[in-house]
Amino acid sequence: MYKCDVNKMANKINTFAQFGDAGHGGVTRYSLSEEAIMARDEFVKRMEAIGAVIECDDLANMYATIPGSDPEAKRIVMGSHCDSVRNGGNYDGILGVMGAMEVLETIVEQEIPHKHPMTAMIFTNEEGSEFPPCMMCSGTMCHDYMPERFRGNFEFNKMMASESIWNPGVTFGEKLSTFKYKGDIANRMSPEKYKALFELHIEQGPILEDAGKDVGVVTCVLGQMIYRVKFYGQAAHAGTFPMKKRKDAFFAASGALRYLHEEIDKLGHEDLVYTTGEVVIRPCVNTVIPDFFDFSIDVRHENPEVLDQVRNILLSLDGKEWDGCPCEVVLGWNRDTVYFNEELVGYVRESVEELEIPYMDINSGAGHDAQYVSYMIPTTMIFVVSKDGLSHTELEFSTPEQCTNGASVMLNAVLKADKA
Ligand SMILES: [Zn+2]
Repeated sequence: MYKCDVNKMANKINTFAQFGDAGHGGVTRYSLSEEAIMARDEFVKRMEAIGAVIECDDLANMYATIPGSDPEAKRIVMGSHCDSVRNGGNYDGILGVMGAMEVLETIVEQEIPHKHPMTAMIFTNEEGSEFPPCMMCSGTMCHDYMPERFRGNFEFNKMMASESIWNPGVTFGEKLSTFKYKGDIANRMSPEKYKALFELHIEQGPILEDAGKDVGVVTCVLGQMIYRVKFYGQAAHAGTFPMKKRKDAFFAASGALRYLHEEIDKLGHEDLVYTTGEVVIRPCVNTVIPDFFDFSIDVRHENPEVLDQVRNILLSLDGKEWDGCPCEVVLGWNRDTVYFNEELVGYVRESVEELEIPYMDINSGAGHDAQYVSYMIPTTMIFVVSKDGLSHTELEFSTPEQCTNGASVMLNAVLKADKA
């Protein structure tokens, strides 16, 4: 059993927390920003110090590789993202990069024999904070391997045309074209060159902590569907139009949302989660009765039959009238549960058992770069417990010991994959 070093991990956490330090405990580090360059410079500095070769692909995904005993063998890669949301924490994404660096450093320092070249990696623009969508560059890289149903979401030209949320007119492609770490398409991850991917990540939820576990052996990323529920009313003057004659689209939607919650909860699935997080109201004027209201509903569960039950409830609204407003239900987005590679999941489980770290199997409700890579090469994930289950906030926290435990599990799992 090999172990990573807690002092070195603590040093990495403190160092990377400076790049985009928002001054109150977290970071704001958008992809392709000055802060992202600082984090990547540090990655290069530390990886070159152990003799790793640095490569970048055309999407600015970065790879630092140390050789194995067999120069012909495919690479085993570990990685995650180094960008954050606005006022994000010091662990989401960057933990997987620091963990990968830690594994390579430990292999070099302890002269651990291995056959395959080992790569630490940074994915560009996972959060999509400035340029949507999330997981843009893993999605683009894995486009050809994805199910046809949703590969159109990650078509290269469409991604390059993605506009900045704050500077409309500035596209991702323009910003990427002058980015320091934009490289060559030939350096992209491919099944010809890469054998397996491991992504270490914080859990971002409370399940491990509530169960008293430090590490989660991730078996899948939950299936997800997003629907839009739209209501069509009639605009009229707020002061002159009688209540009885109104077709208020907002009022109709509020009744329908309440009804949806009641019906979905009746299904009785405790681990089902669903969220309405985005609404559109028109004309959005305080003296006008709304003639249009549209809300999102994001539904996640491992079992496709459960998702079908919820889908049936949602579709039962389609074409019906609510308080005089016709309702339309439209599918926005849809993905099946992504199961990780059983062999790799097995290596992670064996490693965590051998290290005697308290663990449990867990699924991921959040999306990660690993889910798209899993369409291309064998892939899996390892979760580290998140304090109070908090993430995408500056309060995000895992102890240096917990982070190091996660890296040690990855180190041993990678070595098992190397021998296989
Ligand atoms: Zn993340």
